[in-house]
Parts: sequence; C-alpha cells; structure tokens
Amino acid sequence: AKANGRGCHCFFEPEMNLHAQIRRTLRLDLRRALDAREFELFYQPQVNVRTRKVGTLEALLRWRHPESGLVAPDRVIPLVEEIGLIVPLGEWVLEQACAAAAGWPGQEKVSVNLSPVQFTSARLVAVVTSALQASGLEASRLELEITESVLMRDTESTLATLHRLKQLGVSIALDDFGTGYSSLSYLQRFPFDKVKIDKSFVSSLGRTAASTAIVRAVTELCMALGMSTTAEGVETEAQHAALVALGCTDLQGYLFSRPCPAEEVPALLQKLNGA
Ligand code: C2E
Ligand code: CA
Ligand code: CA
Ligand code: CA
Repeated sequence: AKANGRGCHCFFEPEMNLHAQIRRTLRLDLRRALDAREFELFYQPQVNVRTRKVGTLEALLRWRHPESGLVAPDRVIPLVEEIGLIVPLGEWVLEQACAAAAGWPGQEKVSVNLSPVQFTSARLVAVVTSALQASGLEASRLELEITESVLMRDTESTLATLHRLKQLGVSIALDDFGTGYSSLSYLQRFPFDKVKIDKSFVSSLGRTAASTAIVRAVTELCMALGMSTTAEGVETEAQHAALVALGCTDLQGYLFSRPCPAEEVPALLQKLNGA
C-alpha cells in the first residue's frame, strides 16, 4: 500500500486478521453492500462540560453484514482503502451524516471521520460542498475529524485543503491526539477548532502520573490557542471528574452513551439533555 502512495499508515497490521470469508465477501461485494444499504452510521454524543448538553455527535460507520452481523470500522476501513473504494464510501458517509444531522432537533453538530486517502483526494472540497447543499445542513454544523498522519505528509497542500474547508464554514478536529507522531507544532501550524484526546490517555488517568500531566498540558495549550478539547473513551465517573478538573471542554464515551443507530438519536438527545 505504501508503494502506490495510498497511505502512510500501515494497512496490514498483524492483529487485523479479519475472517477470510468476510475479506472475500468484502472484496467482491463492497459496491453491492453499498447499494444494499448494508452500511449504516451510528452516532455517539459529545457532552459539553459547561452546558452539560450534547454539542456534537460523531458518525461512526457500521457494516451490517448478512452473515457476520455488525462489523466494526477498524476492520472494514483498511480493506476498503486497500481495494480503492474509500473515496466513494467516504462520500456516502458525508451525505448520510449531513442528512441525518439536518433532522436533529437541537442544532447539534455532526462530526465525520475522514480517512487520510479521502483527505488528500482532489474531490474532497467538492464532496463536502455538495453534501451540505443536498442536505441543507448549515456548514457550521459539520465537523471533520482528521488524524495526525495527514499532517506529516505535504504540509503546504494539507494547509491549503484545511483553509478551503474552513472557508466553507465547517470546523476541523484533530482526532486521536497523542497516538501518532504528535507534534505540538501541529497545533500552531494548522487551524484546528478541536483536539480529541485519545482514549489511551483517558483510560490511564489515575493509573499513571504521566497521563494526568499530559492531559493537563494538552487542555491548557488548546485553551490558550482557542481550541476545544474532547476526551474520548470516558467510561467511569472517576475519569469524568478528573477530566473536568483538568479542563477538558467536552467528553465522549460509554459513560454517556454508546454509539447508537440514527433512529435512536432524538430519544438519546432528550435523555442526555434532560429536556
Ligand atoms: P475513532 O474516530 O477514534 O472513534 C472512536 C472509537 O471509540 C469508536 O470505535 C467508538 O465506538 C469507540 N468508543 C467510544 N466511546 C468509547 C468508550 O467509552 N470506550 C471504548 N473502549 N471505546 C469507545 P468504532 O466505532 O469501532 O470506530 C473505530 C475507528 O474507525 C474510529 O476511531 C475511526 O478511526 C474509524 N471510523 C469510524 N467510522 C469511520 C468513517 O465513517 N470513516 C472513516 N474514515 N473512519 C471511520
Ligand atoms: Ca474520530
Ligand atoms: Ca479518536
Ligand atoms: Ca481511533
């Protein structure tokens, strides 16, 4: 995958041992799966610490495989990239997510994960523009999540793409912060609105002194730079309390809700917002 320039992250991690049957089915049937609507987006809320309301919901891909049930995206997306269909799948995700968000009751934002291949595709800005137009969603209600691997590549063109997206009015989040080749200089060089602190730091809060120090440093830096911080993978009340004390602005995790199907979002919002 590296040689043909489709990505700098590894597509063939050893633990990614997808069942051979699913692998074959995926290769043969991905387009059919798209047509047959076997893909689905689940949504997971991010709760704002100050307002205590859901500000954003993240769209997370699921594949409802006829035989295997729900297949997680960590297993599907690398294969989709491998067979060269991530751009059309990503387009579908953007369209679906914008259309869903346009129907949410409280003007919540939707955040959409972009794969590095999708981010560097020449079509990205046009695809985002048309997803917004087709759904009627205001650009300010769409957030795009990118990972650090995108930033290491070609700084100039990455910056140009980010600025074009920002000009549309969408916001940009840096996902999985702290897991890759993180550099604090990224936070200064690129126009992020939000940094998402990886769940590995959240799960080690209270277990290692370093994780507390790192989360504190990141939230303080982001605050100083005018960016919000979402902690991912919040599972316990103890983590919740620690993250609030450390100054995180938003929290996401099973403690509040697991990712849920689109049709359950209105009820979930009602429950979490206490309306
Ligand atoms: P991510 O963007 O870091 O998404 C967060 C993952 O953490 C999700 O896994 C979510 O279900 C899980 N999670 C949320 N709260 C908790 C918690 O409290 N504890 C734990 N242990 N996990 C939690 P999921 O849905 O399996 O997605 C995995 C990854 O697949 C995502 O990681 C993202 O990188 C990728 N992905 C998902 N949907 C899309 C998509 O539409 N496009 C692209 N390019 N990538 C996607
Ligand atoms: Ca994400
Ligand atoms: Ca993440
Ligand atoms: Ca992740």
